[in-house]
Amino acid sequence: MSAAVSASTTRDLRALLEPLATLGQADTAFHVSVIGAFDHEGARHALPRVLFSGPPAAHDPIRLAIFGGLHGDEPASVLAPIAFLERLAAEPERATGYELAVYPLLNPVGYVNNTRVNGDGLDLNRLFWCDSAQPEVRAVERELTRTRFDGLITLHADDTCEGIYGYTRGHVLTESLLEPALRSASYVIPRDQRALIDGFAARDGKIEACFEGVLSAPPGQRPRPFDLIFETPALSPLDLQIEAAVTALDTILDEYRVFLAYGQGL
Ligand SMILES: [Zn+2]
Repeated sequence: MSAAVSASTTRDLRALLEPLATLGQADTAFHVSVIGAFDHEGARHALPRVLFSGPPAAHDPIRLAIFGGLHGDEPASVLAPIAFLERLAAEPERATGYELAVYPLLNPVGYVNNTRVNGDGLDLNRLFWCDSAQPEVRAVERELTRTRFDGLITLHADDTCEGIYGYTRGHVLTESLLEPALRSASYVIPRDQRALIDGFAARDGKIEACFEGVLSAPPGQRPRPFDLIFETPALSPLDLQIEAAVTALDTILDEYRVFLAYGQGL
């Protein structure tokens, strides 16, 4: 690192990831590892993963993946999954019946430089399932292929929105997962009530469409897992964005249990 690159223009990855390392050492329920590593401008960057199995339930474990930091300039999306994991250490029963795989930092170079794009200047969230050679995309695609998750949750922060909002596919999932997640998180930050958000038609902060190439399940995976994107307004105070996202994650875990119980007649 050159002397010109000061601490004020870059972020400290070691300080960021320290809570994860501490969790992995202090609590055997957390398994912290790296799903990929690559070099950029002489520095080695790693993509961390934390596995956590909640207390068992009567049903088969539900496998969920939680992603953050795909855009490097959205720190709430990195800090919220870490805060979520720290709370699970104190209250593991919040994840009863779940096997969670949490990927809090998918774009470490972007995070360090505070840029949306990665080290090659690319928006990673347009490159999934189109043979991208970007190491961040390949590592996540490997994970998604190897573990057939039941659901994917991706966190983002949007500096053009006026409140929290989200995307998911299909009316049933929108009403059974996204709606309750937005409702509970709206006690922390209100919803974006505009009819058009990020170029999509929206209702009460809910969008039922998405861009091509976003992080999603492998195209051939059947049955399709649920796929939900939760966005916080990036200009809101960081602690509120984290609280809203953690609240949304907790609610999705609670509601998906209920959703499956109805669906399977448990
Ligand atoms: Zn984003």
